[in-house]
Amino acid sequence: MSAAAVTIVGGGLAGCEAAWQAASMGVPVTLYEMRPQRPTAVHKTDRLAELVCSNSFRGDKLDNAVGLLKEEMRRLGSLIMRAAEASRVPAGAALAVDRERFAEIVTRSINEHPRITVVREELTAIPSSSERAPVIIATGPLTSDALSAEIAALVGSGHLYFYDAISPIVLADTIDHTKVFRQSRWDRSLRGAARPSGQGGAGAAATSASGVACGVDDGQGDYLNCPLTVEEYGRFYDALIHAESATVHDFDKERFFEGCLPIEVMAHRGVDTLRFGPMKPVGLVDPRTGREPYAAVQLRQDNLAGDHFSLVGFQTQVKWGDQARVLRLIPGLEQAEFVRFGMVHRNTYVNGPTVLADTWQVRSRPTLFFAGQMSGVEGYVESAASGLVAGLNAAALATGRPTSTPPRTTAIGALAYYVSHADPAHYEPSNITFGIMAPLERPPRSKQARKLALSERALADLDAWLGAACRA
Ligand SMILES: Cc1cc2nc3c(=O)[nH]c(=O)nc-3n(C[C@H](O)[C@H](O)[C@H](O)COP(=O)(O)OP(=O)(O)OC[C@H]3O[C@@H](n4cnc5c(N)ncnc54)[C@H](O)[C@@H]3O)c2cc1C
Repeated sequence: MSAAAVTIVGGGLAGCEAAWQAASMGVPVTLYEMRPQRPTAVHKTDRLAELVCSNSFRGDKLDNAVGLLKEEMRRLGSLIMRAAEASRVPAGAALAVDRERFAEIVTRSINEHPRITVVREELTAIPSSSERAPVIIATGPLTSDALSAEIAALVGSGHLYFYDAISPIVLADTIDHTKVFRQSRWDRSLRGAARPSGQGGAGAAATSASGVACGVDDGQGDYLNCPLTVEEYGRFYDALIHAESATVHDFDKERFFEGCLPIEVMAHRGVDTLRFGPMKPVGLVDPRTGREPYAAVQLRQDNLAGDHFSLVGFQTQVKWGDQARVLRLIPGLEQAEFVRFGMVHRNTYVNGPTVLADTWQVRSRPTLFFAGQMSGVEGYVESAASGLVAGLNAAALATGRPTSTPPRTTAIGALAYYVSHADPAHYEPSNITFGIMAPLERPPRSKQARKLALSERALADLDAWLGAACRA
């Protein structure tokens, strides 16, 4: 019988974490990283686990879902968390790192591990895989072109996306409900029906050509609508065209799909372009006036808990400070708190719910795993978390043990559940949020107590899962 071994493609956050986990389980790992021979448009060094943008791993407290995810990763022996602790810089309640030191620690740890061999080479094809020798693809949002083509051939080109057009998300309880009204366009509910396209990125644009909701009116409507008068529209439009656009990397410039143009690009095409696009008022009647508003912004519920709403079709590259200022000119959003700002950037990822199981194995080829941003998660910590579970499972497979994933009551399990079970017709990569975790049976009334109760349950369930995994 051949010796157990794991091959990993991509030495980023997910690939390094996966390599560390598999090697820690006693399985030899070969890790392929194409830099420095083949650079990406964003990475600047030859180090493994280079942080391409911010140096923040976000919140680090248990009343925050990403804080919980980090604590779970620590308990699972995460290399990325250990390196982050060792390179921590002051950042209040967040975990931010000295990026140079962070990447240096990860690179050294991987290079010095006796069971890991690092090969600096671009892989242009998916390596062959077997139960004894599984493969993890963790090549990230900037996966090289040749490998992207191979992945598209494997999963089907309709299930691999290349751009992310992200609309801003606001906290529901910061919306002024006296100014907005709930209604679906033409009173057609989306519940139980296909969702419209072009409202969340190249992915959405690629999956459906239908822009029409054709469900049944339930009398309530699926959207919150922010109506604008002609004066309010004029103020918003002026602010938008004078707002500062985010600095983007060269590859991002002028390569937008028509289906997911940034709102500022549409605004520069003409004063009414937005009114015929994402701000179109047709099919909406403002109950306070009994008339169609001059323009409208639609907000759609973004998570199961209903505490996040995204601005439909509002992908943008306006700088975050300006973005908040401009978006707060929309009636109802004057005091809005943004959970996420809008963005458009290159992002190669698979349609997780179509392609992946919750163990991060490819459903049609279980000896192959996807991990990291490529698997359809969003963010440094989430990418590393998926690599962690993929690495453990690849090692389990290689040594003849069953694969498994932590329960959905944990943050790491909820992420796996989201990636493998979200609505495939409308799939978008997600950060970890409490909203994608299994709800509490008896939730405390206060929001803070609810979050802490979710974290407490998650850590108890993770410990139980770990205990069972150790006994198996
Ligand atoms: C421009 C940009 C900015 C971002 N900013 C943030 C941010 O501020 N905060 C945040 O939380 N997330 C951010 N993200 C999202 C994401 O969390 C990071 O991209 C994260 O690094 C993803 O981890 P990963 O391991 O999946 O991919 P990466 O860290 O990118 O690692 C993938 C590795 O695979 C290598 N590779 C690619 N193709 C091949 C091949 N064919 N053969 C061999 N090696 C290959 C690459 O060189 C790279 O080292 C950003 C993404 C982008 C594109």
